[in-house]
Amino acid sequence: MKALAVFGNPILHSKSPRMHNNAISSLKLDGIYTRYKLDNKKDLKDKILELSLDGVNITLPFKEEALKIADFSDEISQKIGSANTIILRNRKLYAYNTDFSGFLEAIKEFKNIKRALILGAGGTALAIAYALKHKEIEFCVANRSEKRFCKFTNFKTILYDNLDEFDFDLIINSSSAGLNDNELPCDKNLLDKILKNAKFAFDVIYGKKTPFLQLCEKHNLKTKDGTDMLLWQGVFSFELFFNIYNKRELIEKYMKEALYLN
Ligand code: NDP
Repeated sequence: MKALAVFGNPILHSKSPRMHNNAISSLKLDGIYTRYKLDNKKDLKDKILELSLDGVNITLPFKEEALKIADFSDEISQKIGSANTIILRNRKLYAYNTDFSGFLEAIKEFKNIKRALILGAGGTALAIAYALKHKEIEFCVANRSEKRFCKFTNFKTILYDNLDEFDFDLIINSSSAGLNDNELPCDKNLLDKILKNAKFAFDVIYGKKTPFLQLCEKHNLKTKDGTDMLLWQGVFSFELFFNIYNKRELIEKYMKEALYLN
């Protein structure tokens, strides 16, 4: 039996156990997926080993630590500097980042994107930046403060206050604005200018229509929230956990079923 878990703090809200367990039982696989609230990042590796887990998802705020404790990591997670998936083989930890591929899958329906603007400069923005680079989409990362730009030295960054070009096809809110408040990621007048010329908008926040997405709809943009990114990072982690790569559509179907349950 495969023993799997998601580690984070907070963790009660996580939809991962429901998504993975529905796929496990529907595909008649032998496994169980649970959640673990971790208080101190220093305990991450010991807990994973102590619980004899076969695979782990890591969510906020431990994704950077997940990469640090890994014995091996793939090129993408190394570039991004964080991992959300760990596979255990002979008590060695192998780290991956499926937020990268999950984001790309989620924006597949947005066609012919030439220029994108990422709002926010946190860990999720970094995964998205590498995903856009991989797709050879030109982009810029904008944030309200400078301190996080040090992680984006390979990319074009700008403070909202200095933003003076507005020809982007896709606008991505990767900031936490709108998650637990009613805020926009930046000033409304600035956003109006940005959205006027855009075609598509994506918000990494899922399960609610954020003020950002509401404003994008007023500008008649095609919009998506972060549900599909959550779904697809789960599908790609599941493939790694079970080493199954020929059942993607079924895994997607069963995870989707679980996601849309109330
Ligand atoms: P971080 O804490 O690393 O970064 C947060 C970013 O948001 C920073 O750039 C911060 O700016 C900015 N920010 C926070 N509050 C505001 C605000 N009120 N106005 C403007 N900017 C703000 O977070 P993550 O990158 O790890 O996560 C960001 C979001 O992504 C979360 O909401 C998370 O739930 C979501 N997420 C969704 C996933 C999915 O599968 N759909 C996967 C992973 C994350 P500053 O630097 O100035 O503080």
